[in-house]
Amino acid sequence: MSEYLDIPGIYGSYVFGEKEMRERLPRAIYKSLKRSMVTGEELEPVVADATACAMKEWAIEQGATHYTHWFQPLTGTTAEKHDSFISPKEGGGVIMELRGKELIRGEPDASSFPSGGIRATFEARGYTVWDITSPAFIYDNGNTKTLCIPTAFCAYTGEALDKKTPLLRSMEAISKQAVRILRLFGDEQTERVIASVGPEQEYFIVDRETYLKRKDLIFTGRTLFGAMPPKGQEMEDHYFGAIKERVSNYMKELDIELWKLGIPAKTEHNEVAPAQHELAPIYNTTNVATDENMLVMNVMKKVALRHGLVCLLHEKPFAGVNGSGKHNNWSLGTDTGRNLLEPGKEPQHNPMFLLMLAAVMKAVDEHAGLLRMSASNPGNDHRLGANEAPPAILSMFLGDQLTAVVEHIIAGNDENVPGASSMKVGVSTLPLIRRDATDRNRTSPFAFTGNKFEFRMVPSSGCIADANTVLNTIAADALGSFADELEAAEDFDGALRALIRREMAAHQRIIFNGNGYTDEWVAEAARRGLPNIRSMVDAIPELVTREAIALFERHGVYTEKELRARADVSYELYAKTINIEALTMIDMAGKDIIPAVIRYTTQLADSVNAVEAAGADAGVQRELLTRVSVLLRQASAALAELKLRQHRAAALSGAEQAQAYRSEVVPAMEVLRAPVDHLEMICDGEIWPMPTYGDLLFNV
Ligand code: ADP
Ligand code: MG
Repeated sequence: MSEYLDIPGIYGSYVFGEKEMRERLPRAIYKSLKRSMVTGEELEPVVADATACAMKEWAIEQGATHYTHWFQPLTGTTAEKHDSFISPKEGGGVIMELRGKELIRGEPDASSFPSGGIRATFEARGYTVWDITSPAFIYDNGNTKTLCIPTAFCAYTGEALDKKTPLLRSMEAISKQAVRILRLFGDEQTERVIASVGPEQEYFIVDRETYLKRKDLIFTGRTLFGAMPPKGQEMEDHYFGAIKERVSNYMKELDIELWKLGIPAKTEHNEVAPAQHELAPIYNTTNVATDENMLVMNVMKKVALRHGLVCLLHEKPFAGVNGSGKHNNWSLGTDTGRNLLEPGKEPQHNPMFLLMLAAVMKAVDEHAGLLRMSASNPGNDHRLGANEAPPAILSMFLGDQLTAVVEHIIAGNDENVPGASSMKVGVSTLPLIRRDATDRNRTSPFAFTGNKFEFRMVPSSGCIADANTVLNTIAADALGSFADELEAAEDFDGALRALIRREMAAHQRIIFNGNGYTDEWVAEAARRGLPNIRSMVDAIPELVTREAIALFERHGVYTEKELRARADVSYELYAKTINIEALTMIDMAGKDIIPAVIRYTTQLADSVNAVEAAGADAGVQRELLTRVSVLLRQASAALAELKLRQHRAAALSGAEQAQAYRSEVVPAMEVLRAPVDHLEMICDGEIWPMPTYGDLLFNV
């Protein structure tokens, strides 16, 4: 019998949210705080002090002893610096204190976070500033509980040193431009337009004991060696299949932990690959959704350990098996509650929607390279551009009905778009666009799914801030240019129609509804002139093209200095990641695999001698010995080559170094892997020094 769970009671119990604020703050303070949350205005000192005091009282009641300014440095993870509430009291003893100043601003010694040269160590000062639109929460780490205050992190000189600051700026930008458009359509009520995101998170679950026997998983999060098991994902029996008990117990506790944090974990199911799963929360404002996703990843890993499991967030933990990503569901809504991407029953008669659609087509087409970069991390190189979903080429899936609408508009025939009835397939209760959405194309990197766009390139282990900063900014730019034109027009309706038609025609090449995994599409995309950027290293320059710098500066999202810093940090991140992988491979091959295979050849040789001494035929043993010896020699030569190249790359720096890792070290890693995986398949299972894919994927 399962015990009763008071979910509404649990939900949000670790969050200093709306309810706590209302109950614990004096009315005037509460109202002032709420106003600042909407307008972004700075808090008055009295408001900050009162809020800090109430927050501290609440946190202490929850068992917290420390607080931290929680932020997202450029490493793509989260960082925190813990301070206790303790403050010395006059005349001895201590009181528990959190002052307004400490709530709204922190000054971590942050010289060890990457800044791409923005902040030299001699001026190490960085500030964390409370993002009051994202609620403070309690992080429960078993024996310690900490009050976490979500913050943005910037240098003394004002440059952003984190992922949140540009994201917040991009939210301002999209709001500003979208409101201009709304005014043109006669909407005088809307004050803000809010970009919302629902990130669906994919992950793998493996047994912890098995995991601990794999150095590659421990050090790099992915397997660097490993032959395919006899059974892979070909049966597709895992997808939406019954969830195994151990995993469902894990998911249950994960849900509860997330609910406590006020994160609306909603759906959980198995994914395509064995041991792969997905969690989708209900969408939220972009910055809050980003914070929540960082927490989701963190809690996923933490709870797994309690169940003797390990959660793998890497984009490609197992070669030959489906990888993991995040589906970033993005939409724009007004503060009055209207979704601007809602096509309605008759999209062809919804000019506001068509204008939004034209803007997104223009944005994605013109800035495909930037979007690609925003979804880049070293792990994602194994998904994008390798024969893995989704391809590295950006295209947009609109589905049949919307594509027909676009085609008719381009042909100047928008009065005669095929009506809804001509496309019905018997499910008359479903609005048509929804039908497209359910029948949507899973191979598309950027799909319209009903009333939102789903950007599916985003890496599973990464922070979604980059992707959304770019999405918000490029959409703001397209809407801004439309607003410039339409504000100046004398005949609004005529100008609007002409603009939509012109822009859809200009960017039609970005629409592709077919199967994105085929070679035909790669060739077709090249004909259309769509970029196909296969590696993170090749994507990084997109951040600092003249167009990108102008774009981000125009909307106040990044300065040129910030962009250059980010490019530098990205090269460094790539190089460091591949270096760790190469060193791990060298260690595993040199210390574990090759010695084990050598022992095996000795065993085989002994066996040949013994069998022949007994006068029997040792042909099989001899043949195996020869094959193993050939592969052993190959592996040993490949290991020597990898060592050499790793050494050479490690001596370089900057872009040159990242390129060396990409074009010299990565191929050498593949050359080493091939004979080792082959050896794994022909050697005696008893001698193999680590668990196999079969052990990892089918063992939970
Ligand atoms: P799927 O069929 O892809 O699973 P769902 O309807 O379950 O689609 O939604 C997937 C994700 O998209 C969820 O996180 C959900 O909250 C989010 N989502 C739904 N509507 C919107 C919207 N208007 N804006 C942003 N995200 C949304
Ligand atoms: Mg999805």
